Amino acid sequence: MKILANDLKRPFDLYANEYEQKALEVLRSGWYILGKEVAEFEAEFASWLSKDNPESVEFVGLASGLDALWIAHKLLGISEGDEVIVAANSYIACVMGITIPGGTPAFVEPDVYHNLDANQIESAITPKTKAILAVHLYGQPCDMRAIMQVAKKHNLKVIEDCAQCHGGRTLNEMGEMQTVGTFGDVGCFSFYPTKGLGAFGDGGGVSVKSPEMAAKFKEFRNYGSKVKYQNEVVGANSRLDELQAGLLRVKLNHIDEFNENRNTIAKKYLSEIKNPLVELPKVQDQIYHVWHQFVVQTKHREEFIKHLADNGVGAMIHYPIPPHLSNAYSYLGHRVGQFPITEQLASEVVSLPIYDGMTSDEQDYVIDVINEFEI
Ligand SMILES: *Cc1c(COP(=O)(O)O)cnc(C)c1O
Repeated sequence: MKILANDLKRPFDLYANEYEQKALEVLRSGWYILGKEVAEFEAEFASWLSKDNPESVEFVGLASGLDALWIAHKLLGISEGDEVIVAANSYIACVMGITIPGGTPAFVEPDVYHNLDANQIESAITPKTKAILAVHLYGQPCDMRAIMQVAKKHNLKVIEDCAQCHGGRTLNEMGEMQTVGTFGDVGCFSFYPTKGLGAFGDGGGVSVKSPEMAAKFKEFRNYGSKVKYQNEVVGANSRLDELQAGLLRVKLNHIDEFNENRNTIAKKYLSEIKNPLVELPKVQDQIYHVWHQFVVQTKHREEFIKHLADNGVGAMIHYPIPPHLSNAYSYLGHRVGQFPITEQLASEVVSLPIYDGMTSDEQDYVIDVINEFEI
């Protein structure tokens, strides 16, 4: 059997007719930027995020997840000299979201769930700290109850990176389940094709809590202009296009089913993968995980990935080089050994195939191949 690390053709095939119909409809409409599809998608995605939720949000479409991140930092006032606390094992785009508008990342080690450790935040606070960037990594929500408490105590902004966590839920301060992207000041989303709500090209956007904030993002994404040719601020061209928005509306109709399917696969992996050389991911109690990735750890990664490949199973590494050791951030002056937990994760993590449309035979095969791994 041959199983790709990720297979984007599968989720497409599940609803191919619906996507093809919508694509034709948009192509034939003669309107391709900032029209009906974007407006409808923004309203529908906001209401999906707000459904059964103590907090409701508005949503603004943008061109990518990275744009969502850096524009959010910029519009929350992060600039030269400001520090933003972020888990050191985050994706590099998270850190770029901080540094593009001029901020500096203040890295902290992650907790056992691979997420920002609320207990590490206070020791990283300095007089320059302005915000916390909570990245819900691999689809597992951060402990937002604890993070929001520290943020309130120290009057810090909170930005959530929900690029891997569309529809994840976790407890709030009142002990109720709440959807990620509705806790902080801004929730940043990516619709890159591999993401839980993936487009057929680039896309992204932000969830915000007031019409005023939504208006600021709408102005910024369109050259800082509310009225054509009247520019209020130096903005960007960061518009979600009509074709992607239309296709995202189709996929949004099926996202609950996709999230449930990946939960079913994850449960099977968690109960049936049994190999002392392979450590399974830890899941927090009382959360809804959306399993963007199923990430195991092994001290024998090279041999493990070779064993998988020899048996036709693809795997990926998210991520092999932590941002503090990336060339892009050499100017920050970090060194090897500074964040040992993060660096160990970078050398041990492996993402297994877990995608929409994966058959149960394929899941069984992946489990068998892993259970046969030995050195
Ligand atoms: C994918 C991703 C981004 C960047 O999104 P793009 O749409 O690719 O720019 C940011 N943060 C996280 C956690 C991501 O997974």
